[in-house]
Amino acid sequence: MKIVIVENPRPLTIEHYNDVANAPLSASLNSGYALAIARQAGWDTAHLDFSTSGDIASASAARILAEDADIVLFHWVYAWGHEELLRTTITQLRNESRTRIGAFGLFPTLSCNRLLQYAPQLDFILAGEFEDSLNALLRHFEKEHAIAALPGVVIRGRAFVPRPLIEDLSTLPIPDDTGANCSYPSLNIAASRGCFGECSFCFIHRYYGCSRRRTRDLPSLERELEVRLARRDIQSLYFIDPTFIGRGESERNRALQIGQMAQRLALPFGFEARVDCIDEQLMTALTLHGATSVFLGIESGCDSVLKRIDKRITTDQIRQAVRIITESGLHLNLGFIMFEPDSTLAELEANYRFLEELGVLSEQELTANLLYHNQIVLFGSSAWESFEKQGRLLLDERLPFEARCRFRDERVASVCEAMGRLTSVYFRAMDANRPAMPDSATRCTTVQQCLQPGMGSSINELIKNAFQDLCRAAHSGSPKRISQVEHEYAERLHNIPVM
Ligand code: SF4
Repeated sequence: MKIVIVENPRPLTIEHYNDVANAPLSASLNSGYALAIARQAGWDTAHLDFSTSGDIASASAARILAEDADIVLFHWVYAWGHEELLRTTITQLRNESRTRIGAFGLFPTLSCNRLLQYAPQLDFILAGEFEDSLNALLRHFEKEHAIAALPGVVIRGRAFVPRPLIEDLSTLPIPDDTGANCSYPSLNIAASRGCFGECSFCFIHRYYGCSRRRTRDLPSLERELEVRLARRDIQSLYFIDPTFIGRGESERNRALQIGQMAQRLALPFGFEARVDCIDEQLMTALTLHGATSVFLGIESGCDSVLKRIDKRITTDQIRQAVRIITESGLHLNLGFIMFEPDSTLAELEANYRFLEELGVLSEQELTANLLYHNQIVLFGSSAWESFEKQGRLLLDERLPFEARCRFRDERVASVCEAMGRLTSVYFRAMDANRPAMPDSATRCTTVQQCLQPGMGSSINELIKNAFQDLCRAAHSGSPKRISQVEHEYAERLHNIPVM
């Protein structure tokens, strides 16, 4: 018996340059876990990665068919408008083989019923945490040569029974390293699953069906590190847990023990955490153990917005967490939603002042990200449901599983659209000057190197000024004034000189 796991094509478009953060990082291990589960069940496996290719459907289908697998399982991630390509591939597989075709992961879980309609050739979807469901499905298939509506397996027209979450994560097999992961010097690894938060824009609790965080035991983490580090040269670790640090003393000790584990291996590490789990002593200790970076989803500089998105933190807590991290010498990465759809102009301006106060608007690429992160609405999210009810979804038939939404304040919408276009100009200019080949001797190798001396800071100022001037113009309520400001800044960005 053979299963092939396929990554769907999802080449990044400029429109989605700033939207990638909507997929949780934990998805990067899904295919690795699926392959390991299948082998443990006694199946032969193959992995085909079309994620960065715009491969034509027939070429993808031919490569999948060549594997002659009994089951083809798509790790289907939001495809940024390339869904049709995938649907054509699946149709071709159906026409030319008797293989069973399924999908798993976050997107198929959240879009389950709609996806079964959109791609009627799909035989099944593994909904939610998939490892136990896949194991049961493969063992059943080996005996019966049929896909059954087992717990966790969605089949069109059959009643769905959810599968309970895995209670002991240390029973999971060690995931394969797959696709692009294999070429990174940093190793993604999970020490826990789930999150106790319920932020309205987040998919984690929807995917697992609850807001609960589960940890694995430390010997199993150590075993996994030993095996995966022997596979290739690794220079650092990244813990992809939605929140690496839990609540309470025992969780703080656990984080420290993991830090010590990384230190024994002489590997620096990064992680993501909730603002309300950051404390000074712990950060100092983790830094001593080799922590180098922390990602914090701060999302807003307004308590009113934090409340609206159910973030359950305050701006004071954010100030404190950012101060602690900065003083610990850790590199700080931020998640921020500048254009929350119910925002007022005053809230946009408060966001700006807050980011300045935190001292995080000093580097152009980060500034461009922070001053333009629109909230894309993905099918299956609670935001989709609520905007649909309010009649505020802006649909585009080329993008069946994503939408924009109507802002409550038209003036905020104008600033958002203008900043979106301006940052696209910026990102395009930067992309055009990135090297075609990593070892190219003739082209510059980083954005900063592309710029003439001193240009980095002036571009940063340009983006910041654009944001503030657009907000000021929006107060006038005159679309003409906003578009004049946008035009002026677009001209200046177009003329970014490069070496
Ligand atoms: S803190 Fe909020 S956004 Fe972050 S993982 Fe938890 S629920 Fe999701």
